[in-house]
Amino acid sequence: MTFEPTPDFAASLDAQDPLRDFRDRFHIPPAPDGSESIYLCGNSLGLLPKTARAAVEQEFQAWEQRAVEGHFHGASPWMHYHEMLAPAAARVVGAKPLEVVVMNNLTTNLHLLLISFYRPTATRYKVLMEGGAFPSDQYALESQVKLHGFAPDEAIVELLPRPGEHTLRTEDIEAKIQELGDSLATVLLGGINYYTGQVFDMAAITRAGHAVGATVGFDLAHAAGNIEMHLHDWDVDFACWCTYKYLNSGPGGTSGAFVHERFAYQFDLPRLAGWWGHDAKERFQMKKGFKPMPGAAGWQLANGQIFPMAIHQASLALVDEAGGMSALRRKSEQLTAYLEFLIRRLQLPATQLEIITPSEPAARGCQLSLLVHQNGRQLFDHLAAAGIVGDWREPNVIRLAPVPLYNSYRDVQRTGEVLAAWAKAE
Ligand SMILES: *Cc1c(COP(=O)(O)O)cnc(C)c1O
Repeated sequence: MTFEPTPDFAASLDAQDPLRDFRDRFHIPPAPDGSESIYLCGNSLGLLPKTARAAVEQEFQAWEQRAVEGHFHGASPWMHYHEMLAPAAARVVGAKPLEVVVMNNLTTNLHLLLISFYRPTATRYKVLMEGGAFPSDQYALESQVKLHGFAPDEAIVELLPRPGEHTLRTEDIEAKIQELGDSLATVLLGGINYYTGQVFDMAAITRAGHAVGATVGFDLAHAAGNIEMHLHDWDVDFACWCTYKYLNSGPGGTSGAFVHERFAYQFDLPRLAGWWGHDAKERFQMKKGFKPMPGAAGWQLANGQIFPMAIHQASLALVDEAGGMSALRRKSEQLTAYLEFLIRRLQLPATQLEIITPSEPAARGCQLSLLVHQNGRQLFDHLAAAGIVGDWREPNVIRLAPVPLYNSYRDVQRTGEVLAAWAKAE
């Protein structure tokens, strides 16, 4: 497609957009001047679906009217609430319902899965991760490694881009995995790097990890609800994600966890246990001796947090209604390509501003990360004053993420105009 920078062109793309009506299903926060903001920050916190309030209200009603009986009766008995969410959550990541459970928060799930899948021995104890990974992932791994008696500097190996490059090459990741060979216990990468927006080739990395006998897991915080995935077919061992970014399920919302079907009936796999992971048929017999549920559900510790899960349920329903991840992705690729076009046509020197996100659509999701070498904070404030919400990552990156469910081509076009005005003034 050849893009044009004009409002008319953007309006014509919006008119043809099969997802255009979904914008009205969200609350768009106001800009400083009272008009709708241009919200490009779904990579950090997705917007509130209008259906979320009613979904939570339904559970308030159940609590009000049925109290303890709400666990067993009503439209969505709380005892089984997590089972209701698994099929839709599984569709988002390309998994079977048995492989997915919705529970806890992301970092908590990361720990629970590492307990099972990072099983170091005296000779095979290394973990491979991205250099500069999201801090929570760094701390989680550091503490896991120490828990097993290893020194983080010794056990954690970080992947860094080649000099002069901003993103990792798949062949370099594969080569590092081969080099570590028998010493590599686990590979843990983001599905998408939060800083650069780079999508990793999860299938290739999983193959490479398995070839040397390592387990392979992904933190999908920036991938879930953003790109299409096929965790089951890719043979990924484990994964987890938050639901408040591209899955619009509210601040601190619930999280998803994936454990491949291969492990569904490996009941002796080491894990931390709680009664909600116990075989549901016997859970209330209160017997001694933990007997896990098959599949990812066997990693649950505690009875589910119904209110955040109710929001997630409403949000997942919107993804399905929109036609699932393939429909979202189709628009997303074009929306982000349009933003990229508008930035590139400013022809700013790389010494001033660079897009560090890969330009091949398959190697990125919604987000573009702009590395602003000069006056980055000023540009960010200029965008904010014009009602454009992105986010700022120290030391000098602005992340802008047009989201296919609620952003329009006109949002992107106006962002281009505001950037052009800034570039002219610079
Ligand atoms: C957003 C994000 C987190 C946040 O973790 P929480 O447990 O949800 O607070 C962790 N890791 C990555 C890669 C993230 O992008």
